[in-house]
Amino acid sequence: CGIVGYVGPNDTVEALLSGLRRLEYRGYDSAGVAVIDEAGNIGVRKRAGKLVRLEELLEVSPLTAQGTGIGHTRWATHGGPTDENAHPHLGDDGKLALIHNGIVENFAELRAEVEAAGITLIGETDTEVVAALLGLEVARVGDLETAFRTVVARLHGTFTLLAMHRDEPGKVVAARHHSPLVVGLGEGENFLGSDVAAFVSSTRRAVAVDEDNIAIITPDEVRITDFAGTPVEFAEYEVEWDA
Ligand code: GLU
Repeated sequence: CGIVGYVGPNDTVEALLSGLRRLEYRGYDSAGVAVIDEAGNIGVRKRAGKLVRLEELLEVSPLTAQGTGIGHTRWATHGGPTDENAHPHLGDDGKLALIHNGIVENFAELRAEVEAAGITLIGETDTEVVAALLGLEVARVGDLETAFRTVVARLHGTFTLLAMHRDEPGKVVAARHHSPLVVGLGEGENFLGSDVAAFVSSTRRAVAVDEDNIAIITPDEVRITDFAGTPVEFAEYEVEWDA
């Protein structure tokens, strides 16, 4: 439902939570964040319920992040609103995290494929299947961007997807198909959001990602391609916002 991504030198968990707070108006039943932690591992905290429940969890079980993270508020479509079904979901033996807005219509067929590859799924969401599939593909081809392009091209339905991998810190990849995605351009930091509310407290410079495109952000660079990987030109605009 609500999506935020962050790469940069500032407090990553706070950047994600602040984005999620501004996206709360959309309504949701669960919330979660994933970061690359100081040890270089993926750390996830997620909970059914309001954002305050995630904040409580982070108080007793804090995450130390080193500048790469994704955050999600969920509106359940496949699988009830439980802690397990909340996003982010993991793949590649916990080395990657993924969040998703929308519905993957061919998830049953993809689930059979990942289960046949030996993966045990924990919850009932369409999204967890995509995380597992991306994990298998990263393990096969060795890099997140190539794997992400292959997986995204196989999905039917509607999606905004964000993913990151512990072996490629400082990078978040994102794709959209019949679901919105915007990039926020900062100084030495960049953002992704399902709408500009996700980052407007940090930057007013935005790029609207077009349908069937992929955005790759690092602290110093934004690239946009189509699903085949061909670079796409883009222009930034100034967000008008009355705080
Ligand atoms: N279909 C996904 C789920 O049920 C994503 C829902 C959403 O857009 O928040 O987990």
